[in-house]
Amino acid sequence: MVKVVKFGGSSLASAGQFKKAGEIIRADAKRKYVIPSAPGKRHAKDIKVTDMLYDCYELAESGEDMKPVLRKIRARYNEIINGLKLQLNLDEEFKVIENRFLEKAGRDYAASRGEYLNGIIMADYLGYEFIDAAEVIRFDDQGEFDPDTTNRILKERLKKTERAVIPGFYGTKADGSVKTFSRGGSDITGSIVAKACRADLYENWTDVSGFLVADPRIIDNPKGIKVITYRELRELSYMGATVLHEDAIFPVRTEGIPINIKNTNAPEDSGTFIVESTCQKPEYTITGIAGKKGFVAVNIEKDMMNTEIGFGRKVLEAFEENEISFEHVPSGIDTFTVFVHQEEFEGKEQSVLSAIHRLADPDSIELEADLALVAVVGRGMKSTRGTAGRIFSALAHSNVNVRMIDQGSSELNVIIGVSNEDFDIAIKAIYDIFVETQL
Ligand code: ASP
Repeated sequence: MVKVVKFGGSSLASAGQFKKAGEIIRADAKRKYVIPSAPGKRHAKDIKVTDMLYDCYELAESGEDMKPVLRKIRARYNEIINGLKLQLNLDEEFKVIENRFLEKAGRDYAASRGEYLNGIIMADYLGYEFIDAAEVIRFDDQGEFDPDTTNRILKERLKKTERAVIPGFYGTKADGSVKTFSRGGSDITGSIVAKACRADLYENWTDVSGFLVADPRIIDNPKGIKVITYRELRELSYMGATVLHEDAIFPVRTEGIPINIKNTNAPEDSGTFIVESTCQKPEYTITGIAGKKGFVAVNIEKDMMNTEIGFGRKVLEAFEENEISFEHVPSGIDTFTVFVHQEEFEGKEQSVLSAIHRLADPDSIELEADLALVAVVGRGMKSTRGTAGRIFSALAHSNVNVRMIDQGSSELNVIIGVSNEDFDIAIKAIYDIFVETQL
């Protein structure tokens, strides 16, 4: 039995946090492969080491003095090393880093050092072998992650070692240059390692006890989610639920390896299990609610649209020409609406409108801005009649005007468009009807 354990930045921000992580790892001999992030924030006003490294590199690139920032970064690591009473000395490592910065080794190289150094410390602290991610995580020439090559190399490498620390967030291209994932990408590394060693479980240790049914900034003390499927999670993270990097589920979801989100500061909490499928009945009809503000609805009207084959394609071509991705496309008999991100759309709106006129020849186009989308997600909705009815009566009772409804054919989610102003009220209304009143 093998467990892969990934620790986030706040779980490794200080010697005290390192000790908690160490205790967790030592408490279970199955925790064989450890993926550390870079030291994160120790308190709300603190700066993550990754951000300090980006700053430092920017100074190096523009020929300014980077030494004061580099000294601060070094102090962060020394505090950890001294607090753990390790004999480790990072002088040589920092010399190399300084030189590589002066040689302008790249922003990705710079950021990756946060995880690299934390990995060296973690390996020393645990007495585990250190495997540099540069050796085993591969990106192609375009900078896209290369899953097949990585899996092959990593599998072979892990066979040779019983216990190891592999820093998260980065790897290399074939030419040896360092490339990172997007921010928060150590979650992805953990998932890749779990796949390569065919782990029984991927534990992702962070500073919250898993996913919550709704955003705690909107709902006071919301209930936690005990079990969620990969597909449900994908819907929720796409609509703004953070905690785990959006792409972290891909390596493990095809392998049937569950992910357990756990809290380093409350290890006894069971956290959230992310699984391929489950016959466990969800606690509530809905698993979670998430949403995003800042959408525009482009409403297109044309008489007899229903008889014109290819109308939708022509409209969408106008968005493609302008390199704008669309979110939802609800349509009626003579109307067709395209939901797009306001930020992405604003600068290009007139060009899109004229393209729609040129390509699809509609009667009129109207724009509606400042809209929000709320996603109600849950595997339990499929087997429960009246879910949509309950959602809409709850919204009506809260005086929320529903501008758009889109239910995926999988019946896993219902997407509701409301005005930005009604966003919080809508989420509260839906949460109350399903969770508070336990319907
Ligand atoms: N250290 C990186 C970041 O701050 C990656 C990670 O923590 O997962 O984004």
